[in-house]
Amino acid sequence: MAVNRPLIAGNWKMNGVRANLAEIDALVAGIAGADCDVAICPPATLISEAAGRAGDSGLMIGGQDCHTAANGAHTGDTAAEMIADAGGKLVIVGHSERRADHGEGDALVRAKAEAGWRAGLLVILCVGETEAHRRADQTLDVLSQQLAGSVPDGATADKLVVAYEPVWAIGTGLTPSNDDIQAAHAHIRGELVARLGPEAAGIRLLYGGSVKPGNASEILPLPDVDGALVGGASLKAADFLGIIAAAG
Ligand code: PEP
Repeated sequence: MAVNRPLIAGNWKMNGVRANLAEIDALVAGIAGADCDVAICPPATLISEAAGRAGDSGLMIGGQDCHTAANGAHTGDTAAEMIADAGGKLVIVGHSERRADHGEGDALVRAKAEAGWRAGLLVILCVGETEAHRRADQTLDVLSQQLAGSVPDGATADKLVVAYEPVWAIGTGLTPSNDDIQAAHAHIRGELVARLGPEAAGIRLLYGGSVKPGNASEILPLPDVDGALVGGASLKAADFLGIIAAAG
């Protein structure tokens, strides 16, 4: 396990209605004494009530995306300030599903990260290669490009978390080898330190892509892995608590 305090963050994506908030209650009960930070990013409609249920338990609630503007004529979008107002503490930006479904590029992701900071949110910024990149042996080059284009100047460990999420590993049950995960994370850490200075080694690096209770105990101890960003296995508290247990 890396020296940075682990963060286990769940991304419910477009899953969940009010009935599913029983999972938040179960997490609140289950994380007491956990030796890591824990977050859930539910759909925007559930942030306020999830945050109320999380209370001061230590479970952080966040958004899955934000607009760059604080308000205005942007139908269907959510401002970072609205996430904060609803009780959110963090926001995910640059998820590969946003990049693919909505054509979001690095410059927009960077602006969204800055919007998250403007609202006082911790930003989880996602990067990761496609299967085609991987086959062409371009993984580390792609990560360098995405980091250079999407991480804003002034990034510090208390404001930014980077999630390495190979696109081909998301929701597929596939994961890179432990050696490949470690190599990607070491590369990301090196890039952040080279650009931002030695204190950037404190920026937490999460692995995301088919993390389950069964593989978390192999992935989380890798030297440059500071936690996980979890999709499917965050929907049930029992599964997510199994991953949290592997982080402690
Ligand atoms: C994700 O979407 O961020 C993710 C990692 O999904 P899953 O865990 O389901 O692969």
